[in-house]
Amino acid sequence: MDLGIKGKTAIVCAASKGLGRGCAEALAEAGVDLVINARSAGPLEETAREIAAKYGVKVTAVAADISTEEGRAAVLAAMPNPDILVNNAGGPPPGMWHDWEREDFIKALDANMLAPIAMMKAVLPSMMDKGWGRVVNITSQSVKSPIAVLGLSNSARAGLTGYVAGTSRQVAGSGVNINNMLPGLHATDRAVSLDQGVASAQGISMDEAKAQRAATIPAGRYGTREEFGAMCAFLCSTSAGFIVGQNILLDGGAVNATL
Ligand code: NAP
Repeated sequence: MDLGIKGKTAIVCAASKGLGRGCAEALAEAGVDLVINARSAGPLEETAREIAAKYGVKVTAVAADISTEEGRAAVLAAMPNPDILVNNAGGPPPGMWHDWEREDFIKALDANMLAPIAMMKAVLPSMMDKGWGRVVNITSQSVKSPIAVLGLSNSARAGLTGYVAGTSRQVAGSGVNINNMLPGLHATDRAVSLDQGVASAQGISMDEAKAQRAATIPAGRYGTREEFGAMCAFLCSTSAGFIVGQNILLDGGAVNATL
């Protein structure tokens, strides 16, 4: 399928591995030039080299913490007026409701709510001027169905979801589409670290923890970054111009809801 975005440009935040990398690769496969970002320079540059070599697009690596103002400025300096923005950052740590203090919430809000909002504020004006733009925010299935131990994530992502619900409708008339992708369990390092949490909390092996979590998914397995990236690229395609402010679950059926 021709996604119609060959030659366009995209910033993909938090993309040296995992779901962000899946999105970057799928956009590169569609012919999009990229700025990709993560905090650790080595793995990020390696990913940039691999994607550029495989898909023949231009990939610029910007090592920076996207949850900081300086980090966002560095990323935007490399590509001030992208056609496409994919917002992503690491997820907050698990815990119990009584563990978290104001500082913990501020960190989660900075990474998973205020950073994507700041990035949108920076790039939406030029997208609207051009009359075309796509923004995809990577959030979580926890937006639809809370994951109790991820209270920091549940809270921060709910805030971003509310912002997108209104903002997407304010910019849609200018040809700019903002949507959220809600991952369920995917086979990334983040999933491994959450498997580890289950294994140590229950005194079981990693394989047992993974099997236990996979059994909660009707599809019977974790998702892949390639599947996730393919949906991201479609949401960024010319065919997705009538999809506005949606929250799209990619969870193998894990959220047990009719709508
Ligand atoms: P991952 O495999 O751990 O990859 C995270 C990526 O983000 C890495 O490239 C990491 O590189 C980068 N990163 C993290 N914090 C950053 C920051 N502050 N600034 C810039 N880059 C940053 O994680 P993932 O599984 O792809 O998850 C991506 C997002 O989806 C997370 O918010 C996660 O909570 C959410 N999610 C994931 C799942 C799942 O099953 N995988 C399910 C629901 C929600 P550096 O460490 O070098 O910065």
